[in-house]
Amino acid sequence: MPQQVTILGAGIVGICTGLSLLERGFAVELIDRDPPASGASHGNAGVVSPWSCVPQSLPGLWRHVPKWLLDPEGPVSIGWRHLPRFLPWAYKFLRAGRAEGLDRIGDAMNALNRPNVDLYRYHLKGTGKDDLIQDSWYVHVYRDPAAADLSQLVWRMREDRGVPVERVDAGPLREIEPALSPDYKAAILIKDQARALDPGAVGKALFEKALGMGARFRRAAVRRIAQQENGGWRIETGDEILTAERLVVAAGAWSMTLLKPLGVSAPLEAERGYHLVIRSPGITVNNSIMDTTGKFVASSMSAGVRCAGTAEFAGLDAPPNYRRARVFETMAKRLFPDIDTSDTVEWMGTRPSMPDSLPCLGAVPGHSNLYAAFGHSHYGFGMAPNTGRVVAGLVAGEPPNIDMTPYALDRFQ
Ligand SMILES: Cc1cc2nc3c(=O)[nH]c(=O)nc-3n(C[C@H](O)[C@H](O)[C@H](O)COP(=O)(O)OP(=O)(O)OC[C@H]3O[C@@H](n4cnc5c(N)ncnc54)[C@H](O)[C@@H]3O)c2cc1C
Repeated sequence: MPQQVTILGAGIVGICTGLSLLERGFAVELIDRDPPASGASHGNAGVVSPWSCVPQSLPGLWRHVPKWLLDPEGPVSIGWRHLPRFLPWAYKFLRAGRAEGLDRIGDAMNALNRPNVDLYRYHLKGTGKDDLIQDSWYVHVYRDPAAADLSQLVWRMREDRGVPVERVDAGPLREIEPALSPDYKAAILIKDQARALDPGAVGKALFEKALGMGARFRRAAVRRIAQQENGGWRIETGDEILTAERLVVAAGAWSMTLLKPLGVSAPLEAERGYHLVIRSPGITVNNSIMDTTGKFVASSMSAGVRCAGTAEFAGLDAPPNYRRARVFETMAKRLFPDIDTSDTVEWMGTRPSMPDSLPCLGAVPGHSNLYAAFGHSHYGFGMAPNTGRVVAGLVAGEPPNIDMTPYALDRFQ
Protein backbone atom coordinates (compact mmCIF):
# COMPACT_ATOMS: atom_id res chain seq x y z
CA MET A 1 0.00 0.00 0.00
CA PRO A 2 1.43 3.42 -0.91
CA GLN A 3 1.87 5.87 1.93
CA GLN A 4 -0.79 8.54 1.97
CA VAL A 5 -0.45 12.34 2.04
CA THR A 6 -3.22 14.93 2.13
CA ILE A 7 -2.44 18.43 0.91
CA LEU A 8 -4.57 21.29 2.21
CA GLY A 9 -4.80 23.85 -0.57
CA ALA A 10 -4.85 23.31 -4.33
CA GLY A 11 -3.09 26.50 -5.33
CA ILE A 12 0.03 26.24 -7.45
CA VAL A 13 2.11 25.26 -4.38
CA GLY A 14 -0.23 22.43 -3.35
CA ILE A 15 -0.54 21.19 -6.93
CA CYS A 16 3.24 21.14 -7.55
CA THR A 17 3.77 19.43 -4.19
CA GLY A 18 1.17 16.85 -5.18
CA LEU A 19 2.93 16.12 -8.48
CA SER A 20 6.29 15.62 -6.79
CA LEU A 21 4.74 13.35 -4.15
CA LEU A 22 2.99 11.27 -6.84
CA GLU A 23 6.33 10.87 -8.62
CA ARG A 24 7.70 9.42 -5.38
CA GLY A 25 4.89 6.86 -5.17
CA PHE A 26 2.68 8.49 -2.54
CA ALA A 27 -1.11 8.35 -2.65
CA VAL A 28 -2.14 12.02 -2.77
CA GLU A 29 -5.36 13.80 -1.88
CA LEU A 30 -5.77 17.56 -2.43
CA ILE A 31 -8.44 19.46 -0.53
CA ASP A 32 -9.62 22.96 -1.44
CA ARG A 33 -12.82 24.89 -0.86
CA ASP A 34 -12.40 26.48 -4.31
CA PRO A 35 -11.57 25.06 -7.74
CA PRO A 36 -7.83 24.34 -8.22
CA ALA A 37 -5.48 27.26 -8.97
CA SER A 38 -8.18 29.87 -8.62
CA GLY A 39 -6.75 32.21 -5.95
CA ALA A 40 -3.47 34.12 -6.11
CA SER A 41 -2.23 31.25 -8.26
CA HIS A 42 -4.71 32.32 -10.95
CA GLY A 43 -4.41 36.10 -10.89
CA ASN A 44 -0.69 36.74 -10.57
CA ALA A 45 1.55 38.50 -13.06
CA GLY A 46 2.91 35.25 -14.46
CA VAL A 47 6.58 36.08 -14.01
CA VAL A 48 8.68 32.90 -13.80
CA SER A 49 12.17 34.05 -13.02
CA PRO A 50 14.97 31.67 -12.12
CA TRP A 51 16.79 34.82 -11.04
CA SER A 52 14.42 36.22 -8.36
CA CYS A 53 16.77 37.00 -5.50
CA VAL A 54 15.76 40.48 -4.33
CA PRO A 55 13.28 40.51 -1.42
CA GLN A 56 10.52 43.07 -0.95
CA SER A 57 12.07 44.63 2.15
CA LEU A 58 15.27 46.54 1.44
CA PRO A 59 17.35 49.11 3.35
CA GLY A 60 15.78 52.59 3.25
CA LEU A 61 12.45 51.34 1.88
CA TRP A 62 10.59 52.94 4.79
CA ARG A 63 11.48 56.38 3.41
CA HIS A 64 9.13 55.82 0.43
CA VAL A 65 6.22 54.45 2.44
CA PRO A 66 4.50 57.76 3.49
CA LYS A 67 4.50 58.98 -0.13
CA TRP A 68 3.07 55.67 -1.37
CA LEU A 69 0.36 55.62 1.29
CA LEU A 70 -0.76 59.17 0.55
CA ASP A 71 -1.03 58.56 -3.20
CA PRO A 72 -4.41 56.96 -4.15
CA GLU A 73 -2.62 55.46 -7.18
CA GLY A 74 0.32 54.38 -4.99
CA PRO A 75 1.50 50.78 -4.85
CA VAL A 76 0.85 50.29 -1.11
CA SER A 77 -2.28 50.73 0.99
CA ILE A 78 -3.28 49.81 4.53
CA GLY A 79 -6.78 49.15 5.82
CA TRP A 80 -6.69 51.27 8.96
CA ARG A 81 -8.85 48.81 10.92
CA HIS A 82 -6.21 46.19 10.26
CA LEU A 83 -3.38 48.45 11.48
CA PRO A 84 -2.97 47.02 15.02
CA ARG A 85 -2.52 43.51 13.58
CA PHE A 86 -0.36 44.75 10.73
CA LEU A 87 2.18 46.77 12.75
CA PRO A 88 4.05 43.82 14.36
CA TRP A 89 4.42 42.27 10.89
CA ALA A 90 5.55 45.60 9.42
CA TYR A 91 8.22 45.86 12.13
CA LYS A 92 9.52 42.38 11.25
CA PHE A 93 9.35 43.29 7.54
CA LEU A 94 11.51 46.38 8.03
CA ARG A 95 14.00 44.45 10.19
CA ALA A 96 14.25 41.73 7.52
CA GLY A 97 15.38 44.43 5.08
CA ARG A 98 18.54 45.37 7.03
CA ALA A 99 21.67 45.21 4.90
CA GLU A 100 23.34 42.50 6.99
CA GLY A 101 20.62 39.90 6.30
CA LEU A 102 20.09 40.49 2.60
CA ASP A 103 22.64 38.11 1.14
CA ARG A 104 21.24 35.20 3.12
CA ILE A 105 17.72 35.98 1.89
CA GLY A 106 18.90 36.53 -1.68
CA ASP A 107 20.71 33.17 -1.69
CA ALA A 108 17.66 31.38 -0.28
CA MET A 109 15.33 32.95 -2.86
CA ASN A 110 17.78 32.05 -5.57
CA ALA A 111 18.06 28.43 -4.46
CA LEU A 112 14.31 27.97 -4.64
CA ASN A 113 13.81 29.79 -7.93
CA ARG A 114 16.80 28.69 -9.98
CA PRO A 115 15.31 25.55 -11.63
CA ASN A 116 11.76 26.95 -12.02
CA VAL A 117 11.54 27.32 -15.82
CA ASP A 118 12.99 23.84 -16.38
CA LEU A 119 10.68 22.32 -13.76
CA TYR A 120 7.56 23.93 -15.23
CA ARG A 121 8.52 22.61 -18.67
CA TYR A 122 9.19 19.19 -17.19
CA HIS A 123 5.83 19.08 -15.38
CA LEU A 124 3.92 20.41 -18.40
CA LYS A 125 5.35 17.72 -20.69
CA GLY A 126 2.54 15.46 -21.89
CA THR A 127 -0.24 17.88 -20.93
CA GLY A 128 -0.42 19.47 -24.39
CA LYS A 129 -0.14 22.84 -22.65
CA ASP A 130 3.62 23.37 -22.91
CA ASP A 131 3.14 26.68 -24.72
CA LEU A 132 1.59 28.25 -21.60
CA ILE A 133 5.16 28.94 -20.47
CA GLN A 134 7.00 31.22 -22.91
CA ASP A 135 10.60 32.40 -22.97
CA SER A 136 10.71 36.01 -21.83
CA TRP A 137 12.85 38.81 -20.53
CA TYR A 138 11.90 40.90 -17.55
CA VAL A 139 12.07 44.47 -18.81
CA HIS A 140 12.34 47.04 -15.99
CA VAL A 141 11.42 50.34 -17.61
CA TYR A 142 12.44 53.82 -16.41
CA ARG A 143 11.29 57.32 -17.34
CA ASP A 144 14.44 58.84 -15.88
CA PRO A 145 17.45 57.24 -17.60
CA ALA A 146 19.69 58.09 -14.64
CA ALA A 147 17.54 55.84 -12.45
CA ALA A 148 18.39 52.80 -14.60
CA ASP A 149 21.58 52.41 -12.64
CA LEU A 150 23.23 49.00 -12.38
CA SER A 151 25.29 50.13 -9.38
CA GLN A 152 22.14 50.22 -7.20
CA LEU A 153 21.82 47.56 -4.50
CA VAL A 154 19.02 45.61 -6.22
CA TRP A 155 21.07 45.19 -9.38
CA ARG A 156 24.29 44.44 -7.49
CA MET A 157 22.44 41.67 -5.63
CA ARG A 158 21.50 40.19 -9.00
CA GLU A 159 24.91 40.60 -10.58
CA ASP A 160 26.55 38.97 -7.52
CA ARG A 161 24.40 35.90 -8.24
CA GLY A 162 25.18 35.71 -11.92
CA VAL A 163 21.85 37.09 -13.18
CA PRO A 164 22.10 38.06 -16.87
CA VAL A 165 21.23 41.78 -16.82
CA GLU A 166 21.75 44.48 -19.43
CA ARG A 167 21.00 48.19 -19.45
CA VAL A 168 19.56 49.62 -22.68
CA ASP A 169 18.69 53.16 -23.80
CA ALA A 170 15.53 54.37 -25.53
CA GLY A 171 16.44 53.18 -29.06
CA PRO A 172 16.98 49.47 -28.33
CA LEU A 173 14.10 49.57 -25.82
CA ARG A 174 11.72 50.68 -28.60
CA GLU A 175 12.84 47.72 -30.71
CA ILE A 176 12.22 45.29 -27.83
CA GLU A 177 8.82 46.76 -26.90
CA PRO A 178 7.46 48.90 -29.77
CA ALA A 179 4.18 49.65 -27.97
CA LEU A 180 5.94 51.36 -25.06
CA SER A 181 5.55 55.13 -24.60
CA PRO A 182 8.57 57.23 -25.68
CA ASP A 183 8.45 58.73 -22.16
CA TYR A 184 10.34 55.64 -21.04
CA LYS A 185 13.97 56.47 -21.76
CA ALA A 186 15.86 53.41 -20.51
CA ALA A 187 15.44 49.86 -19.24
CA ILE A 188 17.30 47.15 -17.43
CA LEU A 189 16.66 43.73 -18.92
CA ILE A 190 16.79 40.48 -16.98
CA LYS A 191 17.26 37.85 -19.64
CA ASP A 192 16.66 34.11 -19.93
CA GLN A 193 13.49 33.71 -17.92
CA ALA A 194 9.85 32.91 -18.71
CA ARG A 195 6.30 34.16 -18.37
CA ALA A 196 2.97 32.39 -18.21
CA LEU A 197 0.28 33.11 -20.79
CA ASP A 198 -2.31 32.16 -18.17
CA PRO A 199 -1.03 31.26 -14.68
CA GLY A 200 -4.36 29.70 -13.66
CA ALA A 201 -4.33 27.49 -16.76
CA VAL A 202 -0.81 26.32 -15.87
CA GLY A 203 -2.09 25.30 -12.43
CA LYS A 204 -5.14 23.58 -13.90
CA ALA A 205 -3.05 21.67 -16.47
CA LEU A 206 -0.75 20.42 -13.71
CA PHE A 207 -3.77 19.59 -11.54
CA GLU A 208 -5.25 17.49 -14.36
CA LYS A 209 -1.90 15.79 -14.75
CA ALA A 210 -1.89 15.00 -11.02
CA LEU A 211 -5.40 13.50 -11.30
CA GLY A 212 -4.15 11.41 -14.22
CA MET A 213 -1.33 10.14 -12.00
CA GLY A 214 -3.87 9.02 -9.40
CA ALA A 215 -4.38 12.06 -7.15
CA ARG A 216 -7.82 12.64 -5.67
CA PHE A 217 -9.45 16.01 -5.16
CA ARG A 218 -12.01 16.91 -2.54
CA ARG A 219 -13.85 20.23 -2.67
CA ALA A 220 -14.29 21.20 0.98
CA ALA A 221 -13.48 23.98 3.42
CA VAL A 222 -11.24 22.69 6.20
CA ARG A 223 -12.24 24.07 9.59
CA ARG A 224 -9.79 22.36 11.90
CA ILE A 225 -6.96 19.84 11.93
CA ALA A 226 -5.94 17.75 14.94
CA GLN A 227 -3.34 15.06 15.53
CA GLN A 228 -4.58 11.57 16.30
CA GLU A 229 -3.11 9.13 18.78
CA ASN A 230 -1.72 6.96 15.95
CA GLY A 231 0.33 9.94 14.68
CA GLY A 232 -1.97 10.61 11.74
CA TRP A 233 -4.24 13.63 11.30
CA ARG A 234 -7.93 14.32 11.61
CA ILE A 235 -9.32 16.90 9.18
CA GLU A 236 -12.65 18.50 10.00
CA THR A 237 -14.61 20.05 7.15
CA GLY A 238 -18.11 21.46 7.39
CA ASP A 239 -19.68 18.07 6.65
CA GLU A 240 -17.15 15.35 7.31
CA ILE A 241 -14.28 14.16 9.44
CA LEU A 242 -11.43 12.88 7.27
CA THR A 243 -8.15 11.28 8.17
CA ALA A 244 -4.65 11.47 6.73
CA GLU A 245 -1.36 9.72 7.43
CA ARG A 246 0.59 12.86 6.62
CA LEU A 247 -0.54 16.41 6.08
CA VAL A 248 0.97 19.23 4.03
CA VAL A 249 -0.44 22.69 4.76
CA ALA A 250 -0.32 24.62 1.47
CA ALA A 251 -3.29 26.88 2.14
CA GLY A 252 -1.56 30.10 1.07
CA ALA A 253 -2.51 33.17 3.12
CA TRP A 254 -4.96 31.06 5.20
CA SER A 255 -2.37 28.53 6.36
CA MET A 256 -1.94 29.99 9.84
CA THR A 257 -5.69 29.89 10.51
CA LEU A 258 -5.27 26.09 10.46
CA LEU A 259 -1.94 26.00 12.34
CA LYS A 260 -2.48 28.63 15.05
CA PRO A 261 -4.95 26.47 17.04
CA LEU A 262 -2.15 23.86 17.29
CA GLY A 263 0.05 26.42 19.07
CA VAL A 264 2.17 27.06 15.96
CA SER A 265 3.19 30.66 15.34
CA ALA A 266 4.61 32.41 12.27
CA PRO A 267 4.17 35.98 10.98
CA LEU A 268 2.12 35.29 7.87
CA GLU A 269 0.32 38.34 6.45
CA ALA A 270 -2.45 38.57 3.87
CA GLU A 271 -1.01 40.91 1.25
CA ARG A 272 -3.74 41.57 -1.27
CA GLY A 273 -2.97 42.36 -4.87
CA TYR A 274 -5.07 43.34 -7.87
CA HIS A 275 -5.02 42.91 -11.57
CA LEU A 276 -6.79 44.42 -14.54
CA VAL A 277 -7.01 42.38 -17.73
CA ILE A 278 -7.35 44.63 -20.75
CA ARG A 279 -9.14 42.51 -23.33
CA SER A 280 -8.72 43.43 -27.00
CA PRO A 281 -5.88 45.84 -26.12
CA GLY A 282 -4.91 46.43 -29.76
CA ILE A 283 -1.21 46.22 -28.82
CA THR A 284 1.21 43.41 -27.98
CA VAL A 285 3.65 43.28 -25.12
CA ASN A 286 6.56 40.95 -25.91
CA ASN A 287 7.93 40.42 -22.39
CA SER A 288 7.06 40.88 -18.72
CA ILE A 289 7.34 44.63 -18.18
CA MET A 290 7.98 46.09 -14.73
CA ASP A 291 7.02 49.75 -14.53
CA THR A 292 9.53 50.88 -11.91
CA THR A 293 7.54 54.07 -11.19
CA GLY A 294 4.07 52.53 -10.84
CA LYS A 295 5.49 49.30 -9.38
CA PHE A 296 3.33 46.95 -11.43
CA VAL A 297 3.89 44.29 -14.06
CA ALA A 298 2.28 44.29 -17.52
CA SER A 299 2.28 41.17 -19.67
CA SER A 300 0.40 39.90 -22.74
CA MET A 301 -1.62 36.84 -21.71
CA SER A 302 -4.20 34.63 -23.42
CA ALA A 303 -7.05 36.87 -22.27
CA GLY A 304 -5.38 40.23 -22.99
CA VAL A 305 -2.79 42.48 -21.39
CA ARG A 306 -2.72 41.85 -17.65
CA CYS A 307 -1.50 44.64 -15.36
CA ALA A 308 -0.87 43.29 -11.86
CA GLY A 309 0.51 44.61 -8.61
CA THR A 310 -0.44 46.56 -5.45
CA ALA A 311 0.31 45.64 -1.85
CA GLU A 312 -2.86 46.11 0.20
CA PHE A 313 -2.79 45.17 3.86
CA ALA A 314 -6.40 44.91 5.04
CA GLY A 315 -6.60 41.42 6.55
CA LEU A 316 -8.02 38.21 5.13
CA ASP A 317 -11.69 39.11 5.14
CA ALA A 318 -12.04 42.77 4.07
CA PRO A 319 -14.05 43.24 0.86
CA PRO A 320 -12.01 43.98 -2.29
CA ASN A 321 -11.47 47.62 -3.22
CA TYR A 322 -11.60 47.35 -7.01
CA ARG A 323 -10.63 51.00 -7.35
CA ARG A 324 -7.11 49.61 -6.83
CA ALA A 325 -7.51 47.51 -9.99
CA ARG A 326 -9.05 50.33 -12.03
CA VAL A 327 -6.00 52.47 -11.32
CA PHE A 328 -4.17 50.18 -13.73
CA GLU A 329 -6.22 51.59 -16.59
CA THR A 330 -4.57 55.01 -16.26
CA MET A 331 -1.20 53.44 -15.59
CA ALA A 332 -1.45 51.15 -18.61
CA LYS A 333 -2.22 54.16 -20.83
CA ARG A 334 0.87 55.90 -19.50
CA LEU A 335 2.92 52.83 -20.35
CA PHE A 336 1.30 52.06 -23.74
CA PRO A 337 -0.33 55.22 -25.20
CA ASP A 338 -2.17 53.27 -27.95
CA ILE A 339 -3.72 50.63 -25.69
CA ASP A 340 -7.51 50.25 -25.96
CA THR A 341 -8.87 49.99 -22.41
CA SER A 342 -12.57 49.86 -23.27
CA ASP A 343 -12.98 46.22 -22.19
CA THR A 344 -11.48 45.24 -18.84
CA VAL A 345 -11.83 42.64 -16.08
CA GLU A 346 -10.83 43.34 -12.46
CA TRP A 347 -9.52 40.83 -9.95
CA MET A 348 -8.25 40.72 -6.36
CA GLY A 349 -6.23 37.95 -4.71
CA THR A 350 -4.18 37.38 -1.60
CA ARG A 351 -0.44 36.79 -1.40
CA PRO A 352 0.74 34.72 1.56
CA SER A 353 3.49 37.09 2.71
CA MET A 354 6.29 36.56 5.19
CA PRO A 355 8.40 39.53 6.37
CA ASP A 356 11.55 38.21 4.66
CA SER A 357 9.84 37.18 1.36
CA LEU A 358 10.78 33.54 2.04
CA PRO A 359 8.26 30.73 2.46
CA CYS A 360 7.92 28.34 5.41
CA LEU A 361 8.89 24.89 4.24
CA GLY A 362 9.35 21.57 5.95
CA ALA A 363 8.33 19.67 9.07
CA VAL A 364 6.26 21.70 11.53
CA PRO A 365 8.18 21.67 14.84
CA GLY A 366 6.46 19.79 17.65
CA HIS A 367 4.05 17.86 15.38
CA SER A 368 4.84 14.65 13.56
CA ASN A 369 3.67 14.01 9.98
CA LEU A 370 2.82 17.69 9.48
CA TYR A 371 4.60 19.82 6.85
CA ALA A 372 4.51 23.49 5.90
CA ALA A 373 4.50 24.71 2.29
CA PHE A 374 3.22 28.29 2.43
CA GLY A 375 4.28 31.92 2.68
CA HIS A 376 5.68 32.45 -0.82
CA SER A 377 4.86 36.15 -0.81
CA HIS A 378 5.41 37.85 -4.21
CA TYR A 379 7.25 34.88 -5.70
CA GLY A 380 5.04 31.82 -5.25
CA PHE A 381 4.29 31.18 -8.89
CA GLY A 382 8.01 30.99 -9.61
CA MET A 383 8.93 29.15 -6.41
CA ALA A 384 6.15 26.54 -6.58
CA PRO A 385 7.75 23.75 -8.65
CA ASN A 386 10.93 23.60 -6.58
CA THR A 387 8.91 23.98 -3.38
CA GLY A 388 6.98 20.90 -4.46
CA ARG A 389 10.14 18.99 -5.15
CA VAL A 390 11.81 19.99 -1.88
CA VAL A 391 8.76 19.36 0.32
CA ALA A 392 7.98 16.02 -1.34
CA GLY A 393 11.61 15.02 -0.77
CA LEU A 394 11.34 15.90 2.93
CA VAL A 395 8.09 13.91 3.29
CA ALA A 396 9.86 10.96 1.65
CA GLY A 397 12.79 11.29 4.05
CA GLU A 398 15.31 12.30 1.35
CA PRO A 399 18.13 14.63 2.43
CA PRO A 400 17.38 18.09 0.95
CA ASN A 401 19.76 19.36 -1.71
CA ILE A 402 19.45 22.95 -0.48
CA ASP A 403 20.01 24.48 2.96
CA MET A 404 16.56 24.45 4.61
CA THR A 405 17.33 26.73 7.58
CA PRO A 406 16.22 30.01 5.85
CA TYR A 407 12.73 28.50 5.34
CA ALA A 408 12.24 27.27 8.93
CA LEU A 409 8.71 27.95 10.17
CA ASP A 410 10.02 29.11 13.57
CA ARG A 411 12.75 31.45 12.27
CA PHE A 412 11.04 34.56 13.68
CA GLN A 413 10.83 33.22 17.26
C1 LIG B 1 -1.18 40.66 -8.02
C2 LIG B 1 -0.22 39.52 -7.80
C3 LIG B 1 0.84 39.34 -8.69
C4 LIG B 1 1.74 38.29 -8.49
N1 LIG B 1 2.71 38.07 -9.43
C5 LIG B 1 3.55 37.02 -9.29
C6 LIG B 1 4.48 36.71 -10.30
O1 LIG B 1 4.51 37.35 -11.36
N2 LIG B 1 5.34 35.67 -10.10
C7 LIG B 1 5.32 34.94 -8.95
O2 LIG B 1 6.15 34.05 -8.80
N3 LIG B 1 4.39 35.17 -8.00
C8 LIG B 1 3.51 36.19 -8.12
N4 LIG B 1 2.57 36.44 -7.18
C9 LIG B 1 2.55 35.62 -5.96
C10 LIG B 1 1.91 34.26 -6.20
O3 LIG B 1 0.70 34.40 -6.91
C11 LIG B 1 1.63 33.57 -4.84
O4 LIG B 1 2.79 33.58 -4.04
C12 LIG B 1 1.20 32.12 -5.08
O5 LIG B 1 0.12 32.05 -5.97
C13 LIG B 1 0.83 31.45 -3.77
O6 LIG B 1 0.38 30.16 -4.09
P1 LIG B 1 -0.29 29.23 -2.99
O7 LIG B 1 -0.61 27.95 -3.63
O8 LIG B 1 0.58 29.23 -1.77
O9 LIG B 1 -1.58 30.05 -2.54
P2 LIG B 1 -3.06 30.16 -3.20
O10 LIG B 1 -3.00 30.29 -4.67
O11 LIG B 1 -3.74 31.25 -2.44
O12 LIG B 1 -3.73 28.75 -2.86
C14 LIG B 1 -4.07 28.43 -1.54
C15 LIG B 1 -5.35 27.61 -1.64
O13 LIG B 1 -5.71 27.16 -0.32
C16 LIG B 1 -7.12 27.13 -0.24
N5 LIG B 1 -7.52 27.18 1.15
C17 LIG B 1 -7.12 28.06 2.09
N6 LIG B 1 -7.67 27.77 3.28
C18 LIG B 1 -8.46 26.67 3.08
C19 LIG B 1 -9.29 25.90 3.93
N7 LIG B 1 -9.43 26.19 5.23
N8 LIG B 1 -9.96 24.85 3.40
C20 LIG B 1 -9.82 24.53 2.07
N9 LIG B 1 -9.03 25.24 1.23
C21 LIG B 1 -8.35 26.29 1.74
C22 LIG B 1 -7.55 28.36 -1.03
O14 LIG B 1 -8.90 28.23 -1.46
C23 LIG B 1 -6.54 28.40 -2.16
O15 LIG B 1 -7.05 27.78 -3.32
C24 LIG B 1 1.62 37.45 -7.35
C25 LIG B 1 0.55 37.62 -6.50
C26 LIG B 1 -0.38 38.64 -6.72
C27 LIG B 1 -1.55 38.78 -5.79
